[in-house]
Amino acid sequence: MLVLKFGGTSVGKPERMKKIATLVTETPGQKVVVLSALSGTTNALVAIGDLILKNDLDAAEKEIALLEKHYHAFIQELYASENFKTIGQEIVSRFFIFIRLLAAGQFDDKSYRELLAQGELISTELFYQHLMEQKINARLLPALYFMSIDENEEPELEKIAQRLKPLLKSFQNVDIIITQGYICRNHRNEIDNLKRGGSDYTASLMGAAIGAEEIQIWTDIDGMHNNDPRVVKKTIPISELTFDEASELAYFGAKILHPSTIVPAQKYNVPVRLKNTMDEKAPGTIISNKETERVFKAVAAKDGITAIKIKSSRMLMAYGFLRRVFEVFEQFKTPIDMISTSEVAVSLTIDNNAHLDTIVKELTTFGNVEIDRNQTIVCIVGHRIGNQHGILDKIFGCLGDIPIRMVSVGGSYNNISILVDTRYKEKTLIQLNEGIFKLG
Ligand code: ADP
Ligand code: ASP
Ligand code: MG
Repeated sequence: MLVLKFGGTSVGKPERMKKIATLVTETPGQKVVVLSALSGTTNALVAIGDLILKNDLDAAEKEIALLEKHYHAFIQELYASENFKTIGQEIVSRFFIFIRLLAAGQFDDKSYRELLAQGELISTELFYQHLMEQKINARLLPALYFMSIDENEEPELEKIAQRLKPLLKSFQNVDIIITQGYICRNHRNEIDNLKRGGSDYTASLMGAAIGAEEIQIWTDIDGMHNNDPRVVKKTIPISELTFDEASELAYFGAKILHPSTIVPAQKYNVPVRLKNTMDEKAPGTIISNKETERVFKAVAAKDGITAIKIKSSRMLMAYGFLRRVFEVFEQFKTPIDMISTSEVAVSLTIDNNAHLDTIVKELTTFGNVEIDRNQTIVCIVGHRIGNQHGILDKIFGCLGDIPIRMVSVGGSYNNISILVDTRYKEKTLIQLNEGIFKLG
């Protein structure tokens, strides 16, 4: 079985939704289709949620009305017959009655997450009705029946697999099984989500859970590019990546994939193919355990990083110091990304500042603590890049006068990371593009 995921832009216009219906129908065999919300919807729902939280209900209503109008226009173009236009109108009206009910009620964090879930719930229902209009053998499988996260917000892959088994058995004769990306239930059984961009993760979790032949992520670009196309003008697609390489790129900011997408696929060795809905013929990128020997594959950048330096003479020749430092981060459930040490200081980075003040207070008991905010990790990925002769020369050679705050080499074979002030991110990505990829 294949799992095919279509992102926001792939379903964001009626003609695109029709196009993916054809694409899915023409793909042989039984398949699971994971859909995102229409592009712009989750952003709009976030904005509406924020306005309701601020008790600015008039402004929230304006945004709700605008979004509702967009959906009413959408269904007029999506469906051909009057009968299905009416069905579409009923779906849209029902959703917006519910959104207004949420807005009018006691709006807490739980209602906020329920509001965010409406985007995927409505896109899948509209798509399902489009397939019904075409008399295609399809069914809706609600993600909230099987997708769950535990108290640490980690997906429960085994439980997901167990729940999916009987559900899929009951759909044995169905060609196309449609489900929602992004949404799930949490350990309190409330509606929750897999964080922004989470539909990729849904597809990968499902692919791993059912032992799919392949997970296909269909988006608006022809695969993983060698650099961030939002920042650098000339970028090129990479045809093959290993799970490890793709995982590093996704984690360190390549927006084409949710940061955790590769983890379940790699665990169950299910290849992930990245494809372009706007250009189906383009080869895209295949991610598997097959190694290819190109030294430099791609760079990616992750913003919003804070660097923390702890300087202490107690570190000198002492053991147990780093353990105590790490325990502080563990206590506040704050993951560390990069780390570098000297005899008297340790620098590390975090991407979550929720507990920064308390962490700094605790760390101050060990020594002098310095903070640098607005940092960016630039991650350079390639085949055995970490232990190739002369690689650092090449990288630093093209960075010129860009000040580098930290470097991490040797953590893994396929990744070298550098930390720069975010002001230098664009320059860093451009100079690496010219210097190591020879793309001007
Ligand atoms: P979707 O809505 O289909 O999930 P996203 O917007 O989340 O799509 O991801 C696709 C976008 O990721 C591309 O349009 C591109 O701008 C951005 N992107 C960032 N880095 C990369 C990269 N290295 N390769 C390809 N796309 C990238
Ligand atoms: N709709 C969600 C978002 O915009 C999930 C996704 O598109 O992957 O973040
Ligand atoms: Mg995405």
